[in-house]
Amino acid sequence: MKREIIKDTAFLSQVAEPATKKDLKTADDLRDTLIANSDRCVGLAANMIGVNKAIIVYYDYDLNLVGEMFNPVILNKKSPFQGKEGCLSLDRTTEVTRYRRIIVQYEDRNFEEHVHSFHDNTAQVIQHEIDHCNGILV
Ligand SMILES: [Zn+2]
Repeated sequence: MKREIIKDTAFLSQVAEPATKKDLKTADDLRDTLIANSDRCVGLAANMIGVNKAIIVYYDYDLNLVGEMFNPVILNKKSPFQGKEGCLSLDRTTEVTRYRRIIVQYEDRNFEEHVHSFHDNTAQVIQHEIDHCNGILV
């Protein structure tokens, strides 16, 4: 189900709580909300739809699909660059340092752990959404 995008910066500045198997519906709603906004949005974190859990969805440019992660953590990052990013929750674009290659540890919807590398556009989207999970607004 498509959900409304939250713009309350106090709510969005909280660090997300760990996601559990009870949060699968939130992940489904997050995916639906991303697809409904796909003309202007390539990633979302659960707090952007009002659920303060560490769940993200993102457009994967290599696989051409919407990926999802539960409890993602960046383990390694390489090749910094200055990116310009917008955010559905903030009516502005901001310059930010990102990394072209990242290694992320996360859980899938069966809560099995994965470690995977991402690069370029996909990596940038994932970094933005993991920032949301940490209460960081760009
Ligand atoms: Zn954002």
